[in-house]
Amino acid sequence: MHTYHMTRVSTNTKTGPIPVTTISDNSCPVICPLKKKGCYPEYGPLAMHWRAVSAGTRGGTLDELCVKIKALPKRQLWRWAQAGDLPGDGTLIDFAALAQLVEANTGRRGFGYTHYDPFIAHNAMAIRYANERGFIINLSANNLAHADQLAALGIAPVATVLPIEWSPERTPEGRHVAECPANVRDDMMCANCEICAVPMHKSIIGFRAHGSGAKKAQIVFFARTPKLIESHEPTPIEA
Ligand code: SF4
Repeated sequence: MHTYHMTRVSTNTKTGPIPVTTISDNSCPVICPLKKKGCYPEYGPLAMHWRAVSAGTRGGTLDELCVKIKALPKRQLWRWAQAGDLPGDGTLIDFAALAQLVEANTGRRGFGYTHYDPFIAHNAMAIRYANERGFIINLSANNLAHADQLAALGIAPVATVLPIEWSPERTPEGRHVAECPANVRDDMMCANCEICAVPMHKSIIGFRAHGSGAKKAQIVFFARTPKLIESHEPTPIEA
């Protein structure tokens, strides 16, 4: 069971003044290499808020969150999970919960990122389902080679961690890498950039490791590229 919180007007300087959600930390997938190892909201200004949401003392149920999403104006840009991830058990995305979010987002422009493993067929199906219906879930890569693997799936746009002092222009397979402009310009934020909310945008969005966990986070970038694993058998949802 997760706890879901919406801040109607964010004071996060990276997102700008748009609605943002925070999801309890039990939504984070087990394979996320940033868990306790440089994940930005564990260290940054979000930490106290995320702890309260994770403890269940702030926020509410998925049903309550969906009421709030449906109350947003049409075409509203909003950020899914400034901390946390998609609903799920840590390995498999909870498709029913995701479908509820997709339905609530209809006509709005929700976007976010996931570290859920898209090489698991069930997760790939769920992520594709959301993206095809306008709830844009970017796949989070650990480095450039991983970004190539994720982009080759063709189910969702891709973002990646970047090291502290290097902003590459291309992946090993030649895909364009665009550093998040909010990392480099004070006047840019999600509210006026919106790239991550564009369906199947082609550039790999790079997030430079930053904050007090930056040194730990960039270790993820320089670690060996994860080997591709075989997809699990399709679940009944996909049958
Ligand atoms: S690339 Fe643009 S939309 Fe994506 S996180 Fe950065 S500022 Fe926000």
